[in-house]
Amino acid sequence: MNATFVETWDELDAAERGAVMACIREDEVVSLVARCPGCGEMTTIDLEDQFKLTGFPTLPTLDAPVRHSCGWSGKLTNGVWK
Ligand SMILES: [Zn+2]
Repeated sequence: MNATFVETWDELDAAERGAVMACIREDEVVSLVARCPGCGEMTTIDLEDQFKLTGFPTLPTLDAPVRHSCGWSGKLTNGVWK
């Protein structure tokens, strides 16, 4: 599933499962908010201690699997959830 990056909360609200918004502070991406690829709920991915993001914004990749409370888990690799 493609992780479509959006820029505003409204776009994220209207987006499909798997969509992602980057929260940027002082030119650094501090967290991602994603529509869970499994259930579509919003989930926050904190990049300050749990995850490392590389390749943003063209081929975003997280160094560890994301787990959501619905039971879904997967990895973001080169802009694709697997
Ligand atoms: Zn979920």
